[in-house]
Amino acid sequence: MTTADADPRRRVPRTDAVLADPALAGAAARLGRDRVKRAVIAAQQAAREGRIAPEDVAAAARAALPAAATGIRPVLNASGVLLHTNLGRAPLSAAAVEALGVAAGTCDVELDLATGRRGTRGAGAVAALRDAVPGAGAAWIANNGAAALALVCAALAGTGGEIVVSRGQLVEIGDGFRIPELIESTGARLRPVGTTNRTHLRDYADAIGPDTAFLLVVHPSNFVVSGFVSAVGVRELSGLGPPVVADIGSGLLTAHPLLPDEPDAAGTLAAGADLVTASADKLLGGPQAGLLLGGGERGTALVERVRRFPLARAMRVDKLTLAALEATVAGPVPPVREFLDADPAALRARAAQLAAGLAADGIDAVATDTVAGVGGGGAPGVALPSAAVALPQHYAAALRDADPPVLGRTAEGRCLLDLRALPPAADAELARAVRSVAGAAGREA
Ligand SMILES: *Cc1c(COP(=O)(O)O)cnc(C)c1O
Repeated sequence: MTTADADPRRRVPRTDAVLADPALAGAAARLGRDRVKRAVIAAQQAAREGRIAPEDVAAAARAALPAAATGIRPVLNASGVLLHTNLGRAPLSAAAVEALGVAAGTCDVELDLATGRRGTRGAGAVAALRDAVPGAGAAWIANNGAAALALVCAALAGTGGEIVVSRGQLVEIGDGFRIPELIESTGARLRPVGTTNRTHLRDYADAIGPDTAFLLVVHPSNFVVSGFVSAVGVRELSGLGPPVVADIGSGLLTAHPLLPDEPDAAGTLAAGADLVTASADKLLGGPQAGLLLGGGERGTALVERVRRFPLARAMRVDKLTLAALEATVAGPVPPVREFLDADPAALRARAAQLAAGLAADGIDAVATDTVAGVGGGGAPGVALPSAAVALPQHYAAALRDADPPVLGRTAEGRCLLDLRALPPAADAELARAVRSVAGAAGREA
């Protein structure tokens, strides 16, 4: 071998040759040729500088490329929080994911194939909601819960109409966003009544006047007050005359036995609400969307009025959301509901099996009982008995960096991997992630 051949710079493969690597050709189909080419050029440069061997250029380029054309990465939710807003709230059911694929291409989202004319946009999702919620005469779908509420306020009270609401329900929903500010930003006027802890029927009655657009009930979905408190229910308010709008937040369509304090759409309409607004990606378990449901003749007419309001066009959802929502409402039980209904004994058995398997590999893992929660601004104070694999605390940061990343929680100096919000099918992947972290630590030691 001559000195020239031994010089690694001369053995760096040509770009075209590297791009012909089957894995890189596949990556080019997924990610675009330009992006793959940039990774190859960076790897060739690393080889020229002697940081990698020339034979490893293709592998280095492959390793530098993401698995998909999105920077969003799937994460295993071992936090014990069912609806983690930072993790995208509800994971979709397989049926909803399949529906996304169907709607992704050209589709009849707004075309009546029988006549060839414009059809009702999202008719399937609306029909699914009406079927699922007894008493819902009409439904419309906005971008999210906040949009549904804002649209109702703008359409029904936006030109200076008054919205009567209890001071105890002027809440902050998260990330600094406040219901009162959201409402006022639509041009509607708020008429707060009562006090933080107590509001009576007469407070509402005294405030009603010619400018009253509607009475608003906001479910305080992320906190509980106790002690000397009193609030007025939808049933009593519905007897006062003006329309009653209830923002129930979490999107339960019908009552759930584990969540007795969480209002549901059917029950709220039955109690006399004209309109109900809710999120679709909380306890309903669907994609991000905001539901607007109308009950009775008046509520049905109000939905139509809101739907025809100009701003509605700026808040409408796309075909992907409509498809996933329809599949969630009309299809099999979504993951969030399975997590909610999980048997604690089954969770304990899974934790024990996982911990035993990891411990057999010399990893400091034990199963432990935990308490999980709904999160995502829903069902505050509801404690869900759960089980976790407990690891030394340093695993927490390392697992967020694993592939796939795992989000656990730290408590009492340990990293807890709670199984309440993880499907059983993810246990093997979770164990692999823990082993990869333990292996990396072992190699460093
Ligand atoms: C979550 C929530 C909202 C906001 O809904 P998004 O879908 O997050 O926009 C509004 N009101 C209540 C009561 C909520 O719980």
